[in-house]
Amino acid sequence: MPELPEVEIVKRSLNNKIKYKKIKKIIITNRNLRFKVQKDFESLLEGRLITNISRFSKYIILSLDNHYYCLIHLGMSGTLHLIDHKKKEKITNLSFYHSKFLPKKHNHIKIKFSNFTITYNDPRRFGFFKLLNSKKKLKKYFQRFGPEATSSKFNFKFIKHRFLNKKKNIKNCLLDQNFVSGIGNIYANEILFRSKINPFKEAKKLTNKEIIQLAKYSKLVLNLSIRFGGSSIKDFKNIKGVSGLFQNSFKVYNRENKNCVRKNCKGKIIRTFISNRSSFICKFCQK
Ligand SMILES: [Zn+2]
Repeated sequence: MPELPEVEIVKRSLNNKIKYKKIKKIIITNRNLRFKVQKDFESLLEGRLITNISRFSKYIILSLDNHYYCLIHLGMSGTLHLIDHKKKEKITNLSFYHSKFLPKKHNHIKIKFSNFTITYNDPRRFGFFKLLNSKKKLKKYFQRFGPEATSSKFNFKFIKHRFLNKKKNIKNCLLDQNFVSGIGNIYANEILFRSKINPFKEAKKLTNKEIIQLAKYSKLVLNLSIRFGGSSIKDFKNIKGVSGLFQNSFKVYNRENKNCVRKNCKGKIIRTFISNRSSFICKFCQK
């Protein structure tokens, strides 16, 4: 599932390719994504210039010159592919997860520009495209979300205030998008390991030091992953196991039964479940 760093990579790729480009035509072969693509989607987008590409949490936001905004969410398995009309390049995926090539099936939406086409592929169809017709509506749409983990708003004061009397375990807090945006399961595991916090710990029991660590490592882990993704995309063409390379940066995720990476720690990583999602812990250093 694409998480924030992957979505950021897609955003940057789009920014390089489609900013200030005009949409020539849109072809939709399956409107039944997580939410049905609205009827007038094609007519509202065709002929429009894309003036900006931004991101909030796992949403990509295309700004159009008719003051509409097109939100793209990749869901569980959505990928965006760029197909050059002249050069038939093998690698089409704008990020580094799932297929490197344009798959034969499940290509639901084609956005055609003069020299290339952006194709949306999504086997499980949990992703969606949504149009909003004003800045006000855009703002309102994201109001329910907590600050992004990488922003300065996600700081000690904010976390401390929100954790007063909070009995929920810290892992589920990190995954709660109303509290903080953009942290998925893999990154929650990594952040808690680096912060030396046990994922089962009640949020209200976190010490001040732990809260400071949490804010620090949330930013660090996500920014590292973005950087890592940014460099791995360059190697995308040369390597076989892209996901393998990506996983190399993990210190705890998917490391069940392996030794803890911390010097002087004799612990082994155990795997357990919190709300049905894999949690990897070193019990020696995560208290
Ligand atoms: Zn350890």
